[in-house]
Amino acid sequence: MGRLFIEDMGGPVYKCKSCNVDSASPDDIYSKEFRGHFDRAYLFTNVVNIFLGPIEECMLISGLHTVQDIYCRSCQQILGWKYDKAYEEDQKYKEGMYILERELLLRHGW
Ligand SMILES: [Zn+2]
Repeated sequence: MGRLFIEDMGGPVYKCKSCNVDSASPDDIYSKEFRGHFDRAYLFTNVVNIFLGPIEECMLISGLHTVQDIYCRSCQQILGWKYDKAYEEDQKYKEGMYILERELLLRHGW
């Protein structure tokens, strides 16, 4: 396997807590009012240095969704999930966005 390509965002950034690689920019937070599997979670429009797990159907408080788990590309730690498809009309805005668990992130640079 070749060298992993790891993007360095610079500036204030959320990092993966277990390996310190950049995960997302605070500028890309869409909402902080989400719940993850553990605790509070943030909804991001963009994340970096991740890979996606298989597509799964998931019943959430807000209805049925198709999601993919998000893993850190560097250490394989699970970080959250991506919304592929929402079936409820008022949840469609989440499609293509990413949930990152606050507990698994490290704030860096501010
Ligand atoms: Zn990591």
